[in-house]
Amino acid sequence: MLGSIPTYKPGRATGGVGAGGGPGTAAAAPVKLSSNELPFEPLPDVLAAYRRAAGELNRYPDMTCSELVHALAERHGVQPAQVVPATGSVAVLYHLLQAFCEAGDEVVYAWRSFEAYPIAVALPGAVPVPVPLGPGARHDIDAMIAAVTDRTVAVLVCTPNNPTGPVVTRAELARLIDAVPADVLVVVDEAYIEFATDGDAADGPAELAAHRNVVVLRTFSKAWGLAGARVGYLLADEAVAAAARACALPFGVPYASAEAALAALAAEPTMHTRVGLVVAERERLLPRLRSLGLEVPDSQANFVWLPVGDRALELAATTERAGLITRPFAGAGVRATVGRPTDNDRLQDAIAIWVTTTSS
Ligand SMILES: *Cc1c(COP(=O)(O)O)cnc(C)c1O
Repeated sequence: MLGSIPTYKPGRATGGVGAGGGPGTAAAAPVKLSSNELPFEPLPDVLAAYRRAAGELNRYPDMTCSELVHALAERHGVQPAQVVPATGSVAVLYHLLQAFCEAGDEVVYAWRSFEAYPIAVALPGAVPVPVPLGPGARHDIDAMIAAVTDRTVAVLVCTPNNPTGPVVTRAELARLIDAVPADVLVVVDEAYIEFATDGDAADGPAELAAHRNVVVLRTFSKAWGLAGARVGYLLADEAVAAAARACALPFGVPYASAEAALAALAAEPTMHTRVGLVVAERERLLPRLRSLGLEVPDSQANFVWLPVGDRALELAATTERAGLITRPFAGAGVRATVGRPTDNDRLQDAIAIWVTTTSS
């Protein structure tokens, strides 16, 4: 069985820990633009909460993460029983599919999309049904609807889509929800939703309010800048949430991580400020990359997709020689996280040189 589970390939690390290299690494350590992390250090209040919680390391955490769950329920206008936290939203997805899938059940998702999906589907023995992206590297909602059969348990929707960037629109998500049977879960993965500026972007929590089969995945790993804390959650109908909760590991989220997430929530305006800086950089980078002749899709996230096909490994090696670790997907393209302005300048320069020296 294990042989049939695909392996998750993380974004390459820098050799040291974290974005600028760990303690003791040279000043010129490469910059990590491979995992869509926020380029900013944790906020002082978040660090203080995390450190305070370290004094409780001899204790198990609160198993239900009650304080965080209540804060998230209030934030999203749902009942606490509709919130299930776990060690990242990938873990929540694993728990959800484990709860609902039996061997031979089918799970539909767009492809290319998040590389954790084929793994999460294969683990409970379900059958992955990848549906190729349509024009603009966007979800092909009609093809996804057509891929639903009486074996389909869930449809995964990634908006904005990792690694290509575009959102699914409100109208597209509504069409999908209307078209699938009411007992098929529509799982809306909003890992990057805080970066989306498109007014037509789908709104998972709003759909959940009207449809009991909608599940929303959120994470503190991206816009909230807490990838190392490992906190994500789902929002769902109470019965769906209960099933996912039943499959979760007991005491999954450490107390310090929950405290850091709570402190981050309390500093929400700062999150929006930081996200605004990243979005401004994204909007600066996109036209410059397109002016090089690259067909870069509309990114509504904190990364850009360079669809260079079978030259992906070559381009990633080129940016790496320039000190920037990007994420190649062999045969498809390269995903580069939007970083600090100087890093984005260097990225654009490295790509520009690569384009001009290899296209002639
Ligand atoms: C990063 C990411 C997540 C969140 O991962 P965590 O486990 O919460 O760190 C979920 N979905 C997508 C599409 C992602 O890119």
